[in-house]
Amino acid sequence: MEIYKGTATFSGIAIGKILFYHKNEYQIRQYMVSDIKKELNTFNRARVQVGIRLRELYEKNCAGRQTEAEIFQKQAKLLETDSFRRAIESIITSEKVNAAYAVMTNRDELSNTFRNLQEPAICERIFYIQEISNRLIEVLGGISPKIDLGDQPVILAAENLSPTEIMEMDKDKILAVVTHQGSIVSHTSILAKSMAIPSLVGIETQPDWEDAEAIVDGYTGTLYLYPNEEFLKEYEIRRQADIKEREALLKLKTVQDVTRDGKKIGLYANISNLDDINNVLYYGAAGIGLFRSEFQYLGRENYPRENELFCAYKKVAETMGDRLVVIRTVDLGADKQADYLDIPDEVNPIMGNRGIRLCLDRKRMFKAQIRAIYRASAYGNIAMMYPMITSEEELDEIEEIIDEIKKGLTEKKIPYKDILTGIMVETPAAVMISRELARRVDFLSMGTNDLTQYTLAMDRQNPLLRGKYNDHHPAIIRMIKMVIDSAHKENCKVCICGELAADTALTEKFLRMGVDSLSVVPVCILPVRKAIRESDLSVSSDK
Ligand code: PEP
Ligand code: MG
Repeated sequence: MEIYKGTATFSGIAIGKILFYHKNEYQIRQYMVSDIKKELNTFNRARVQVGIRLRELYEKNCAGRQTEAEIFQKQAKLLETDSFRRAIESIITSEKVNAAYAVMTNRDELSNTFRNLQEPAICERIFYIQEISNRLIEVLGGISPKIDLGDQPVILAAENLSPTEIMEMDKDKILAVVTHQGSIVSHTSILAKSMAIPSLVGIETQPDWEDAEAIVDGYTGTLYLYPNEEFLKEYEIRRQADIKEREALLKLKTVQDVTRDGKKIGLYANISNLDDINNVLYYGAAGIGLFRSEFQYLGRENYPRENELFCAYKKVAETMGDRLVVIRTVDLGADKQADYLDIPDEVNPIMGNRGIRLCLDRKRMFKAQIRAIYRASAYGNIAMMYPMITSEEELDEIEEIIDEIKKGLTEKKIPYKDILTGIMVETPAAVMISRELARRVDFLSMGTNDLTQYTLAMDRQNPLLRGKYNDHHPAIIRMIKMVIDSAHKENCKVCICGELAADTALTEKFLRMGVDSLSVVPVCILPVRKAIRESDLSVSSDK
């Protein structure tokens, strides 16, 4: 048996076989084609398209970076060679398969044949073939939008997973996720958590683990590979006990979020898409405290239209009825990217054009979202909050937009409500001006994930900092207290919606500080409810 230690980002135990996720490559599917001529034409059109793109890249780069630019030129020449074209055409014709699959087969056969050769010219040629093949596959659309995990549920191992990739997977097929990159507060981990998938980060996953029997222990952060029979049996017993423990918590689904001494706390849920709503209702959350609306903008070719957003928000509002639904306006940028957003490369995207800054730069996108939120407000109990606020000037701009949108809706006699508004406090700047911010909105919501990374100046996703990234740092705890006190002086409510809100070791501390509500992923509602109900704020604490 091999044992690997990492960090658990969501608890639980999984036993199963490993599927190693190879980015891009894994997703190409093989189809039988009946019209060979048509498929050959498709392939040749893609070849022309890639050729044009490579020449464009050459033109664009040749002034400043001649050596790099020549690479594109060499690739374009290789793409035009008869030998490359014929090799792929022959696979399409003889095997009657789709062009994308034929390109991949040719690429892999050549790569494998020449893998051990050290001759620089051959290595270079193979590299170019891989590059142009990947471009062709992209154009041919051989990349399935849904990542196929096979028939049986698997333990998914990968070097890294993006939020978009995990969103595209069928969650019923994933027993657990094990990655090298990522952290407790990376968005991929948060998504895995909201899907209740045991997850580990910080493990150097290897492609040759494919099909290996494994156990993931999401309590200790351990991966066991090739366990023996006896060990497997022992873990199966633990897995069953874990399931029973979770079931026992279910009796808390319908009880109130109230401390022993009678203080009522708002316990809300964080969601990233409409599928999560079932769990919000199932676990009996008071409402939705954080709807990460940006996920509706990811994994697609273009901006969602206002009406699409409106329909989604209306559905959430209607499903939740009287319960509050806090929609966070899009927090795109940084680790949440889509090609169509066309955000120029940034040296430091975490500190870059993201969240409210991007929205105020792209007013058309922002206005479409705000109009959709206001239109949906007529159908339920919606509130709206803004991510990454650092100044009152940003609020001035937002208020101007809201006024304009409300005026437009009134003129067109489109119904809307005057909804509650809030600000996410997730930058040290927002903490320091929290009293001023509290005067301008109905609630503040502490985004402790970003607040921790910006306060400690440590990237929340950097695996090298995993041992040093301390979200219990006294600076963070003091900031939370400071924000609660400032806001309360202005009669403004405070929620915590970062991952720290689900940390039951801190629940009582937060309640003693006077926090009004907590918002956590749906699967964490019951453990936090238990911690609230076990807290007694009438007895003094030495913690
Ligand atoms: C946060 O930063 O704590 C937060 C809730 O927002 P996100 O995790 O989506 O950045
Ligand atoms: Mg944040």
